Amino acid sequence: MRYLILSDIHANVDALKAVLDHARGEWDSIVCCGDIVGYGPDPNAATEWTAANAAVVVRGNHDKGAVGLADLEDFSPNARAACLWTASVLTPGNVSWLRSLPRGPLDHAEFQIAHGSPADEDEYVMSLVEARPIFQLLKTGLLFFGHTHVQGAWVREERRYFAIQRPRADRERLDIQLQPDGVYLINPGSVGQPRDTDPRAAYAIFDSNSKVVQLRRCAYDHFAVLEKIRRAGLPTILGERLAVGR
Ligand code: ZN
Repeated sequence: MRYLILSDIHANVDALKAVLDHARGEWDSIVCCGDIVGYGPDPNAATEWTAANAAVVVRGNHDKGAVGLADLEDFSPNARAACLWTASVLTPGNVSWLRSLPRGPLDHAEFQIAHGSPADEDEYVMSLVEARPIFQLLKTGLLFFGHTHVQGAWVREERRYFAIQRPRADRERLDIQLQPDGVYLINPGSVGQPRDTDPRAAYAIFDSNSKVVQLRRCAYDHFAVLEKIRRAGLPTILGERLAVGR
């Protein structure tokens, strides 16, 4: 089985379309690690596409924030403004679908998924030091998570712990061959708002037969999204940051 692993789409349908073109014919099932909405200009289209296409989804903090399930005092001013705008445009059907999303972690036969960490859906796992306690919590040797918008992996193989970074700026993919006794915490990166200094949309593909996870990047027209963000009246910084991946 080949899984298309998406996270942090953030209502950026232009980036999502680019990812789907880039990965065409290379997956059988779709997994989403949350934050379908928030920040971007197309929350209804992103929600409807995910509801129709993703086989497994967990909620993210922005999915909660846009439908009254999170305290917006915990959000930065721009994130809060985006949540309020998103709430004002979401259709009732999309609100109820987002409200019904499960809290992570979710167990799948071949992996687990979470938005932040398996211990706390809102936790940012930013370093190997923060990742180390999570290795003990996993039921399988593989976790896909999001939330940080930073693509990469934390790995335990035998007694060694190490990090794997996103693909180089001049490459579109980086393959991780999973070892039978290894444990892997893998962040596919953010489709709609990368924050790892690479503005290209990020995602991953996991082939459970060959046990390879590919970290992938694909370019898209982020200026078109900036224009939509301007027209929507969202804070323009949310479009400008797409050009620098921060
Ligand atoms: Zn996010």
